[in-house]
Amino acid sequence: MTTLRTPKQFLDHGFTQPEQRTALEAVAARYAVGLSAPLAKLIDHNDSSDPIALQFVPSEAELQRRPEELNDPIGDDAFSPIEGIVHRYPDRVLLKLTHVCAVYCRFCFRREMVGPDKPRALSPQALAQALAYIRTHPEIWEVILTGGDPLVLSPRRLRAVMKKLESIDHVKVVRFHTRMPIADPARITPTLVRAIKVRGKATYVAVHVNHPRELTPEARSACARLVDAGIPLVSQTVLLAGVNDSTEVMAELMRAFVECRIKPYYLHQGDLAPGTAHLRAEIGTGQELMRSLRGRLSGLCQPTYVLDIPGGYGKSPIGPNYLERTGSNGSAHLIIEDFNGRRHPYPPRAI
Ligand code: SF4
Repeated sequence: MTTLRTPKQFLDHGFTQPEQRTALEAVAARYAVGLSAPLAKLIDHNDSSDPIALQFVPSEAELQRRPEELNDPIGDDAFSPIEGIVHRYPDRVLLKLTHVCAVYCRFCFRREMVGPDKPRALSPQALAQALAYIRTHPEIWEVILTGGDPLVLSPRRLRAVMKKLESIDHVKVVRFHTRMPIADPARITPTLVRAIKVRGKATYVAVHVNHPRELTPEARSACARLVDAGIPLVSQTVLLAGVNDSTEVMAELMRAFVECRIKPYYLHQGDLAPGTAHLRAEIGTGQELMRSLRGRLSGLCQPTYVLDIPGGYGKSPIGPNYLERTGSNGSAHLIIEDFNGRRHPYPPRAI
């Protein structure tokens, strides 16, 4: 099986039913569709709520758009001074090399921007201008290569970009955001690993994984090839209804990350992308999950639960909160909650 890209291919391989075809053609006309063979193999055809299928198999629910949903839910455009660059935070920029991905997540926050019918990659001129922007902004300490998935590009092209970044003294860190180690682990070759490392810069890779089943032996080996080469890995997970919104699944995922030497980094609240309400879990659910992880898992397994504020105002941690200020003026004091939910005054009252 190769990557599935059309509703007919999903139907032919038994992932959808014939009566869905018309609706799914409408979904595919609106949003990119793609499921790689390594992930397709994980789907249990007997489970109508399979967590891998929910993430990648198109659904007619995507045709329902809520009024609060936005084409650019995290406000990239408002902070894009030049094609390919998003400069939202002072010390770092996004550099979007391509709009193509190895798979197309049904909840994608950039679903209006990614896909094969969008400009596939920055033109040489646009890339040169984006690199010139980075060069002329000495406050940029970190460059985050995202898109799209930057690791769809060939090692040769990635190497060329890395060599340009190597020559910019004030850039100290280059971070890749990718699904590739789980979507197509065989693409994480020694050549690719060498291509994304350059002298004088720390390369990090943020791997997007939402369910522990995605971390197959092949995906774990791909991650190990990166870590063994000295590239630290961090995780990105989107909180998704029916996929990972239970303590058991989230705990298993976070532990699997740490076993693979991937530091849990972000748990994202689902963005208000069009047609994704059926996959968006409630913030209260996310906070309860975080509370249960705090109570039962090692500190290494704790991600930060964040919300990207619509309009481009950046990410904020959204709890839960363990510290409360009570009283006022002279009687003001703090209450701190422990991992069992017991509350304690801080500092402790004199006995
Ligand atoms: S890999 Fe990232 S950019 Fe690509 S479809 Fe999935 S969420 Fe969107």
